[in-house]
Amino acid sequence: MSESFDYDLFVIGAGSGGVRCARMSANYGARVGIAEEYRVGGTCVIRGCVPKKLFAYASRFEHAFEDAAGFGWSMGRAEFDWQKLVANKDDEIARLSAIYDRNLAGAGVTSFASRAELTGPHEIQLVAEDRMVSARNILIATGSTPFKPDIPGIEHAITSNEAFHLETLPKKIAIVGGGYIAVEFACIFQGLGVDVSLIYRGPQILRGFDDDMRDGLHEEMLKNDIDVRLSTDVSGIEKTADGVTLAFADGGSINSNAVMYATGRRPNVEGLGLSKLGIECGWNGHVVVDDMFRSSVEHIYAVGDVTDRFQLTPVAIREGAAVAEALFNDNPVEVDHDNIPTAVFSTPEIGTVGMTETDAREKHKSVDIYKSRFRPMKHTLSGRDELMIMKLVVDGASGRVLGCHVMGTDAAEMVQMAAIAIRMGAKKDDFDATMALHPSAAEELVTMREKWTPSKAEAAE
Ligand code: NDP
Repeated sequence: MSESFDYDLFVIGAGSGGVRCARMSANYGARVGIAEEYRVGGTCVIRGCVPKKLFAYASRFEHAFEDAAGFGWSMGRAEFDWQKLVANKDDEIARLSAIYDRNLAGAGVTSFASRAELTGPHEIQLVAEDRMVSARNILIATGSTPFKPDIPGIEHAITSNEAFHLETLPKKIAIVGGGYIAVEFACIFQGLGVDVSLIYRGPQILRGFDDDMRDGLHEEMLKNDIDVRLSTDVSGIEKTADGVTLAFADGGSINSNAVMYATGRRPNVEGLGLSKLGIECGWNGHVVVDDMFRSSVEHIYAVGDVTDRFQLTPVAIREGAAVAEALFNDNPVEVDHDNIPTAVFSTPEIGTVGMTETDAREKHKSVDIYKSRFRPMKHTLSGRDELMIMKLVVDGASGRVLGCHVMGTDAAEMVQMAAIAIRMGAKKDDFDATMALHPSAAEELVTMREKWTPSKAEAAE
C-alpha cells in the first residue's frame, strides 16, 4: 500500500457495517481510521435493534404474568418501572458500545470521536478535531435517520430515537406509520400499559409482508386493545395542554399525550460533501453503489442504510465484510440479497423469509399454499386468545419452498432456521420428510400436508 496517504481505508460511521469493515480490513493488515460523531455501535446497538428488542421483552411480561394463573401460579399486583427499564437498557448499551470500541482498538483501528466530512477525493475533515486526514479508500457507512413528513405541527412528534429515552411513559400515544417500527413500538407501548393508537395511511399494516401475516397481526393487535386506524392520513398536529391533537385528512381527529412518527428512515448524507465530489446519489439521497459497493467515485465505497438496499443490520455487516475482502484480501465476494430472513418484533411476532404468496403468484405459474392457524398449546391452559399462523409458499411446478411466514411466539427463531433450508433450495417434500419435533409449535412446518384452497378458506369461515 502507498504510504502517501495517512490511511489505506477511512471509514465514516462506526455502526454495524462500518465497524465490520474497519476491523476486518485492519486484521488484513490495512492502516484503518474510523470516525463516529455520536456513539460507536450505530443505530442497531444504540437506538435500534438491541434496545428495541430489550423493550419488546419488557413489554411481554404482563401477558406472561396473566398466563401464569392458568398454570397454577398466583402473585400480587405486578408493578412496572419505566425509568428502571431505561436505565438498565442504557447500561447494556454502554457495555456493548465499549466492546465495539475495544474490538476496534484491538484490531489496530484508529478511532476518532468526531464528525467526518469529505473535502477532497481522498481527504476527510475531522470536524471535532479541526484536522484533515487522507485515505486511499473511503467507506461511507453513515446509516440512516428517521424521516418525518413535512406537515403542520410535525415538530411536536417524536421518533424512535426519542422513544428510547422518554422521561416518563405517556398515558396515551399515537403512532403514525404501518411498517416495522410503528408496529413494534405500538406493541411495546401497549404491553407497558400505554393506551396506543396506530394510525396508518394504507389499507393494511406491514405493506410488503405476506397478507396472512398482515391480517393475522392486525387481528391480534385489536385483541390487545390497540386502536388500529387504517386508511387514515394525518394532516396536522396541534399542541394541547396535555399533549397533542392529530387532525385527519378525512376530517376526524384524536387527542393523545404524545405522538411518534415511524414513517421510514432516510440515508444520513447531509453535509457529507458527496455532491462536491460528484458522488451519484439516488431518489432519497442514498449513495448509489454497484455490486461491489463502489460509488460512482471508484475508491469511495458505501454500505448499509446509506445505500438503497435493505435497512437491516446483518445486511450492512455482510456488505462491510465484502468491502474488506475485496480491498485487502483479494477476495471479491458478492453479497446475496435474496431470501433475507427478517422479523417484526411485535406481540405476537412475525418471522418471514422468501416470497410472499402475492410475489410468488406474480412470478410463478403455479403456486401451492400450505397454512395453519391454530391456538398454541401454551394457551390451552393460559386461556389466552392468541393465534399462531404458519404458512409455506411452494412452487407448484418444482415443489421448491419459496417462502416461509410465521406469526406467533418465537417466530423469528423458527424462521432463521427455515431460511437455511430455503436458501439450500429445499422442497416441500424435504420439509415433509423431516421428522417433527414434538410437542412444539414449529413442528407444524413439517406436518402441513393439505394444500390451502379458497374452498378450504370458505369452509373455515
Ligand atoms: P418502513 O419503511 O418499514 O415503514 C414506513 C411506514 O411509514 C410505512 O407504513 C409507510 O407507509 C409509512 N409512511 C411513509 N411515509 C409516510 C408519510 N409521508 N405519511 C404517512 N405514512 C408514511 O420504515 P420504518 O420507519 O418502520 O423502519 C425503517 C427500516 O428500518 C425498515 O424498513 C427496516 O428495514 C428497518 N427496521 C427493521 C427492523 C427489524 O428487522 N425488526 C425493526 C425496525 C426497523 P406505506 O407502506 O404506505 O409506504
